[in-house]
Amino acid sequence: MYTLIKQSDQSKARLGELKTAHGTIPTPFFMTIATKGVVRSVDAVELQENLKLPIILSNTYHLWLRPGLEILQAAGGLHQFMNWPGPILTDSGGYQVFSLSHLRKLSEEGVKFQSHIDGRWLFLSPEEAIKIQQTIGSDMMMVLDECVPYPAEYDYAKKSTERSLRWAQRCLEYKNNNDDYKSNQQQALFAIVQGGVYQDLRQQNAKDLAALNFDGYAIGGLAVGEPRQEMYQILDWVIPELPENKARYLMGVGYPQEIVEGVRRGVDMFDCVIPTREARHGRLYLWQHDDLSVEDFYSTIHIKNEQFQQDFAPIDHNCDCYTCKNFSRAYLNHLFRVDDPLFLRLATIHNVSFYQKLMMKIREGIEGGRL
Ligand SMILES: [Zn+2]
Repeated sequence: MYTLIKQSDQSKARLGELKTAHGTIPTPFFMTIATKGVVRSVDAVELQENLKLPIILSNTYHLWLRPGLEILQAAGGLHQFMNWPGPILTDSGGYQVFSLSHLRKLSEEGVKFQSHIDGRWLFLSPEEAIKIQQTIGSDMMMVLDECVPYPAEYDYAKKSTERSLRWAQRCLEYKNNNDDYKSNQQQALFAIVQGGVYQDLRQQNAKDLAALNFDGYAIGGLAVGEPRQEMYQILDWVIPELPENKARYLMGVGYPQEIVEGVRRGVDMFDCVIPTREARHGRLYLWQHDDLSVEDFYSTIHIKNEQFQQDFAPIDHNCDCYTCKNFSRAYLNHLFRVDDPLFLRLATIHNVSFYQKLMMKIREGIEGGRL
C-alpha cells in the first residue's frame, strides 16, 4: 500500500504515496480530525471540493457511543453516513477509553469501562476494536493498545508495552481470520509502537511489531507531555527498526515545526487537533517564510484582539483559502465577538488550509532536495 518515490539525501525525509480503498494519498500528509464523523462546522462536500482534503481521521470511541454501530451499519458505513468519498483512518478507541472514562478495569482480555456520556458499562477488547472499525468501514484501522502515560516507571512501561504487543497480535489474527465483513480485505491495519521513553523497550517493540507484517506502523505514546527533544530522540530510536516499505505514522503530532522535524526523521503521516481546535479559539496561522528550515517560518495571531477591529486585510495575504479570498480580519474579529457559528467555519477553513499547504511545501521541499 506504500510506495517510496524519493528518499532525501539531506535527511531521512521521504516522498511517497499511500494507496487506500478510497484513493491514493501523496506522503508525507496530515490528517484533519473529524472526531465524531464531522470536522466541526465544515461539511464533507466542502472538505472535498473546497479544501481538497486527502484524508480525515475519525474516533472509534466516539462513533461507537454515538450514533452507535446499529446506525452506522444501516447507513452503510461512515463514508456513506457523512457523505465523504475519500480515505478515512480510525483510531482503536483505546486512547479515549483511557483518557475520557474515569472508571475502568484493565485486564489481559481487554478493558471494561464506563461511558463518559451515559455511564453504561462497555467492554473493549482487541477483537471488538477491529469489529467496530470494520463496521465504520475505515480505510486504515489501528490496533487496540494502551498509550503508556508520561511519565511512567520502567516496569509499568514494560508490562504495558508487552500486553499491547499481545493485543496487536490478536487484532491482526482477528482481521486475518474474519471475512464476515464485505470490505474487510480492503481495510489496512496499523500497529502502534509503544515503550514509553525507554530506548530498549521502544526498539524491541518496533522489532516485534515489524516481524508481524502489519500494513503500516504508528509511533504512539508521544505528544503526551514529554519535552520535544525527547520525542525527536524516540523517533531516532524507533524509525530505523521499522520496515522501509511501510508507511510510518506519528500519532497526535503536532505543531508545524514538529511536523517538519518528524518528516526529517522519516515520518510519512501525522494527525493533530491543533489546527481545528485552535481555529475555534481564534488562534490563526500565518506564513512568515517559504523556507521551512528558517526558524519561525510561521506565526499565529489571536483574531479576537482589539488591534484587528479595523484591520480590513485578509488573515494572511499569502493564503488563497476561501476565508482569506472573501473576508477580512475585521469581519472575523466581529464574528468572534458576537459568537456566530460562521466564525468557527471560516477560521477552521483557514487553519486547515494552512496545514495542507504546509504538507505541500514539505513534499516540494523533499522533491527539490531542500528538506
Ligand atoms: Zn486563509
